[in-house]
Amino acid sequence: MKIICIGRNYAAHAAELGNELAAEPVIFMKPDSAVFRQRDAFYIPEWTNDVHYELEVVVLINRLGKNIEAKFAPKYFAEFTVGIDFTARDVQSALKAKGLPWEKAKAFDQSAVLGDFLSVDDFDLSNLHFQLKKNGELVQDGNTSLMLHNIAQLIEHSSQYFTLKIGDLLFTGTPDGVGPVVSGDVLEGFIEGKKVLNVKVR
Ligand code: ZN
Repeated sequence: MKIICIGRNYAAHAAELGNELAAEPVIFMKPDSAVFRQRDAFYIPEWTNDVHYELEVVVLINRLGKNIEAKFAPKYFAEFTVGIDFTARDVQSALKAKGLPWEKAKAFDQSAVLGDFLSVDDFDLSNLHFQLKKNGELVQDGNTSLMLHNIAQLIEHSSQYFTLKIGDLLFTGTPDGVGPVVSGDVLEGFIEGKKVLNVKVR
């Protein structure tokens, strides 16, 4: 199983990191060892001093597919959640400055947190409200209607390069409001007001 992640898919977030908007989706990957399922606390790795949360809508691929047209993309997933794309921002910034790949900053163990999955039948994924609270305070307040590339377009684009397999995950990018975590923080993710994710940071 693999995790396909999208960068810079919300204009306000791209702006807050000083990134230009790309015409095509920005894609990176995390390995299966990055998955974290809320069984334990998230431990900040010792090699970074600046881990950021990024709350994102995540879809679970349930069919094998390659070169999927956007109009058929909804047939390739039935469940979704929100997840956190934990990012070692200090390491990422150093790698970006040198033009090097981001994997050490983005794909490390526990860096892909998943909430509880919900049925797509019960929600409108083109106009979905999702939120992250840190220690009870609202820090990210997103809506999928603000995506630069919608979920169907992301599936169409990414499946030109990578065969989608059952069990793969697609992280669809974060809205603005990203920020650091420190030991002791508690992160809670919400979909349309329903809590689906809870992570303690250590
Ligand atoms: Zn992200």
